[in-house]
Amino acid sequence: MSRPFDLDPLFRTLTVLPGVGPRNGKLLEKLVGGPKVLDLLWHLPIDFVDRRFAPKIKDAPNGQVATLTVTVGKHIPNQRKGQPYKVWCTDETGTINLIFFHAHKDYLEKQLPLNEKMIVSGRIEYYQGNPQMTHPDAIGTESMRAEIETVEPVYPLTQGITNKAVKKAVQAALGFVAQLPEWQNGAYKERQKWPDWHTALDAAHNPPDEKALEPTHPARSRLAYDELLASQLTLALVRHRQRQVNGRSFKSDHTLRQKVLDVLPFKLTGAQERSVQEIDKDMAEPARMLRLLQGDVGSGKTVVAALAMLSAVENGAQAAIMAPTEILARQHAESLKPWLEAAGIRFVVLTGRDKGKARDTIVQQISNGAAQIIIGTHSIFQESIEFADLGMAVIDEQHRFGVHQRLELSAKNKGVDMLVMTATPIPRTLALSAYGDMDISRLDEKPPGRKPIDTRLIPIEKIDPMIDGLKRQIETGARIYWVCPLVEESEKLDLAAAEDRYDILKHFFGDRVGLIHGRLKPAEKDEAMRKFVNGDTDILVATTVIEVGVNVPEATIMVIEHAERFGLSQLHQLRGRVGRGAEKSYCFLVYTGPLGETAKERLGIMRETEDGFLIAEKDLQLRGSGDILGVRQSGMAEFKLANLSVHGDLLVAARDDARLIIDKDPELKGTRGEALKTLLYLFERDQAIQNLRSG
Ligand code: ADP
Ligand code: MG
Repeated sequence: MSRPFDLDPLFRTLTVLPGVGPRNGKLLEKLVGGPKVLDLLWHLPIDFVDRRFAPKIKDAPNGQVATLTVTVGKHIPNQRKGQPYKVWCTDETGTINLIFFHAHKDYLEKQLPLNEKMIVSGRIEYYQGNPQMTHPDAIGTESMRAEIETVEPVYPLTQGITNKAVKKAVQAALGFVAQLPEWQNGAYKERQKWPDWHTALDAAHNPPDEKALEPTHPARSRLAYDELLASQLTLALVRHRQRQVNGRSFKSDHTLRQKVLDVLPFKLTGAQERSVQEIDKDMAEPARMLRLLQGDVGSGKTVVAALAMLSAVENGAQAAIMAPTEILARQHAESLKPWLEAAGIRFVVLTGRDKGKARDTIVQQISNGAAQIIIGTHSIFQESIEFADLGMAVIDEQHRFGVHQRLELSAKNKGVDMLVMTATPIPRTLALSAYGDMDISRLDEKPPGRKPIDTRLIPIEKIDPMIDGLKRQIETGARIYWVCPLVEESEKLDLAAAEDRYDILKHFFGDRVGLIHGRLKPAEKDEAMRKFVNGDTDILVATTVIEVGVNVPEATIMVIEHAERFGLSQLHQLRGRVGRGAEKSYCFLVYTGPLGETAKERLGIMRETEDGFLIAEKDLQLRGSGDILGVRQSGMAEFKLANLSVHGDLLVAARDDARLIIDKDPELKGTRGEALKTLLYLFERDQAIQNLRSG
């Protein structure tokens, strides 16, 4: 099936619309974020003006938009430059001046002919006790009354495009919209009191009143739901396809696991127990596992991953765990080593650093099955490495690993049970939209015994006393991260800031200060990190590149400079670098005032809580969804019609709906299924349809 014929007009370029030429077409394209008629239709009004209010002059209130019927009495051209041109008009109740700056006399005389009855619409202002209207929005003859006396949508605009032009183009575009088959579930649609798609789109662009602009209005929520359903259906199709590939049923008596549990120096938290059970259940089923393990830095994901990998090994299969960087891979190996040794498991570590003979040996152990567990960077999947029998893969994505890469990875490893770990706490709604293809386990409970991190706000003026305090801390063995912000637009400047800070701190602390940033070569980065880990340096000045998961329990102080420039989630991630050992930890948020409202709120929240999930929810409220995941990183497009901070419930409903649809009609062949294909095309989920075809 290719795109339904009825949708074609919506995929034409904007220039097919009346009044849209090559030049303003480019502007319009920029404004609506795409070159197609459809992109314009997704550009919804943010306000409206009611021009139906048509009082007499004497009843027209100050400050309100009104449509007046007046007789043009006199043209009063400006005497001097800078003065306005006035047109004096009357009706039977009073008089009003129409005000024009930079006016052309000839033009105005034609527009507002003397003694003619005219309709003018615009905002009424009182000036020295008399009503006036500056630059009326609409001027017309009596015959144009119906056209003027309407409710006018107000669109987000950009320089060079008027609202009138957008409105005209949209109205024309609405004419391109065909009646499409209904893809919503009838009962659900009725319960929600939703209109048909066609009607909803029309209503969204022609809001009859203020309510119609609210995102919860039936027309708007229907459109939002359509978009969410298209996205969830795409994920559900991916999921279905991946699970169709036969997974294996890993059932075991957990003898190896018990050996590890016996040597663990701690008891699992409730959240860890629960997650392990959820994973066990998935792995025991013949369908393949696609599960996300979410938990703050330090919530103890590694041990959960280890216990899960053992299930595969107990069944004679191999398991692999992949980290995004060399350092993290090595650190995983360090953490896992005592546990794996206790269970007598043969494991290898493979990263880009391994070369030559040593590497050949490792690769061989992977392919002949001598290695039961493989620890490495993501490159183990990118290169031509043969596994003897890979049964389970753990991907420690640490929010650097995008949806697309993830999908690619799972496509390459058919049937392999997948556990993805992320340290970015994501609000439930967002997690669904980014990971709707996966089931989710949450580690929302910190291992016991962690001391709260003492978080303080320090104005930049007080930085010297803070540095004195740090000196005393270092004397008692503290190690300090010092983060300088990296703003993408000017990496050079930021680097300079970090280097300056490095120089200043060297002045105080001598050569026990290290510097790490994105411009360093990997080996140099590793070296700077290693020195800090070993305690050869006490302070590590860093741009935000510091490795997300690196564990340096001796690091107890985090200084974040220009904290006001960071987003909440980012601050939270950075703070998570400390508080990992037995000593009390501090986080100093150094800011440069004056603080804006949002920055103030962000820093306040940081001081109040360490709960990553709570912080993520707040972050979502404060700045919308895109930044939390990092749209580019996650590969998740922003929604155009849905707003996750409002439509969260709809997202959950869409997820359930999508899974039900795919359970019942995985190939979308029924009546609703066919209509849903149209929905997928409408939202340009052509890839999902590819999936359907080759599935
Ligand atoms: P994450 O990968 O989620 O950031 P880790 O798995 O590295 O966290 O765990 C952080 C630290 O907490 C490690 O030193 C680990 O051994 C320890 N840890 C994990 N689970 C527990 C627990 N239930 N009780 C006490 N300590 C734990
Ligand atoms: Mg970790």
